[in-house]
Amino acid sequence: MTALPPGSTIGILGGGQLGRMLTLAAAELGLKCHIYSDVPGGACDVACASTIGPFEDAEKVRAFAETVDVVTYEFENVPLRAAAAAEAVAPVRPGPKALAVAQDRLEEKNFIEDLGLPVAPFANVEDDASLAAALSTIGETGILKTRRLGYDGKGQVRIKSAADLAPAFESLKSAPCVLEGLVPFDFEVSVLVVRALTGETRFYDIPLNTHKNGILDTSTVPSPLPEPHAARARDIAGAIAAALDYVGVLAVEMFYVPGAPEPLVVNEIAPRVHNSGHWTMDACLISQFENHIRAVVGWPLGDTARHADVTMTNLIGADVDRWRELAAEPGTALHLYGKPEPRPGRKMGHINRLRPGS
Ligand code: AMP
Repeated sequence: MTALPPGSTIGILGGGQLGRMLTLAAAELGLKCHIYSDVPGGACDVACASTIGPFEDAEKVRAFAETVDVVTYEFENVPLRAAAAAEAVAPVRPGPKALAVAQDRLEEKNFIEDLGLPVAPFANVEDDASLAAALSTIGETGILKTRRLGYDGKGQVRIKSAADLAPAFESLKSAPCVLEGLVPFDFEVSVLVVRALTGETRFYDIPLNTHKNGILDTSTVPSPLPEPHAARARDIAGAIAAALDYVGVLAVEMFYVPGAPEPLVVNEIAPRVHNSGHWTMDACLISQFENHIRAVVGWPLGDTARHADVTMTNLIGADVDRWRELAAEPGTALHLYGKPEPRPGRKMGHINRLRPGS
């Protein structure tokens, strides 16, 4: 279990803003990054090397992995074949098991439920028969979600009555789905846990997350989650990380239902650094990005303590046009991702507004 020394190269599968911020954090520690992406730009603009190719090209991914000391990823839809090809020549951290679980909502829910942890009621939907069965288990209201490739509220349809279900399934092109019961939550939180090769785990403070049009809008710490429930949330996330023998940062999104026998319900997991942890860049000594890098190269984990209160606000689409005004705002740190076009719904950057610590 030796640590990779400074000067080592980390291969990152995925070239978006998360890969970019991981690369910048690695550079601070004298580590290099080689990005594998299907498009140029993004993380490739700040990395030492990049390979452009489809993620489905397992041979190319293997050749990429041969040039690096360890492989990690910044999105959960890396094809399992590609991850396996990389793993044949270099350690892949977190391991492919986390990918397999996070790629498929049904596997994810079964995995979490099998650990004895709370998830929203769910049922598999893959054809007319299972559709009818799901309706009788879950009831008439819920959310139909595709098992794979859903993100930022895409691949989901709200169900308000039994009549909605068949058209909703059709609108999702009859792709394999899960029907989830509606959780009557007060608010949403996420737990950001980092787990080292040694199994040591550390937690960031738990942010309160708000969404706009299905996309994360703000993450605020401290959150109003009462401490005993925050402790429970950390236990849940820690148990998931341990069960995956996880290495790196894991995000576990949860609903908070005060008064319920089990007030924290897991919504989904992301086996990577997460948008709801971007505030750690400015409000913590060691950010989620640096801690992910430290974990995957086998270094001691960094301090997750928070030194300021903060609200992170995403800059979506044209929000970024206000960069001049935002850059002039006192007490804030602006982070822009260098994306060329501010298309609607596209994450262009974020701003961390700090307040003195409470
Ligand atoms: P997801 O893509 O699963 O994170 O869902 C996007 C958003 O839809 C969540 O952040 C919630 O606001 C809402 N949502 C998802 N699943 C449920 C559920 N079972 N009950 C209530 N709200 C939900």
